[in-house]
Amino acid sequence: METLYLFDIDGTLLRAGTAVHRESFAHAYRAVYGLPLSLDGIPAGGRTDTWLVAEPLRRSGLDDDAIWEKMPEAFTEMQAYTEQHLGDLRHCVLPGVRDVLDGLRADGHVLGLLTGNLSRIAWAKLRHAGLSGYFQVGGFGEESEVRSHLVPVALAAATHLTGRPVPPEHAVLVGDTPLDVEAGKSHGTKTVGVATGPATLESLIEARADVVLESFEDSRRALGELLGLAA
Ligand SMILES: [Mg+2]
Repeated sequence: METLYLFDIDGTLLRAGTAVHRESFAHAYRAVYGLPLSLDGIPAGGRTDTWLVAEPLRRSGLDDDAIWEKMPEAFTEMQAYTEQHLGDLRHCVLPGVRDVLDGLRADGHVLGLLTGNLSRIAWAKLRHAGLSGYFQVGGFGEESEVRSHLVPVALAAATHLTGRPVPPEHAVLVGDTPLDVEAGKSHGTKTVGVATGPATLESLIEARADVVLESFEDSRRALGELLGLAA
């Protein structure tokens, strides 16, 4: 039975914290809202870009109507800024990632994304990292402030792609923070926590991921654990 493996990007496939992506927020706050804000002091791991746009604006006292009215414009600015400034990211691919993706694909599974990144930013990062060819569908950060809301979006996209219903128990969500694990568990997918981002191994164990890995560096072992969750 083929399984849908949904991967987070930052801290899971790539080393967390792409500087250009962070800068794109500061660019949007200034260009769209006229405010000199940044993501400094905002913990970004496991969050969505929608939340990350809104939260500093809320903290600065801007009301919700003003925030949401200009959100599409902010997304456009962020996407354009990132696509314009992003450099080669191949050195950011975490150890073992390619081998794990190759192994899942060779076993006939469907690979997708479950990321808080805006979709155009997600695909740009993967292109610059040489990984875009692995992934066919996803749930992305423009869909919601709340990460768990992206799970049904990704399942629906996979259903559309394959022409068959993809129930949550045939999906495995792979991410680097307890928020990733909670997102999968709240919708009934299996979950893998990998401690290559800001969260500790202990916090992923506490979040009760089905599999917890320090990294994908031992790619044979990691692949075996991931395939062990296949439907
Ligand atoms: Mg992450």
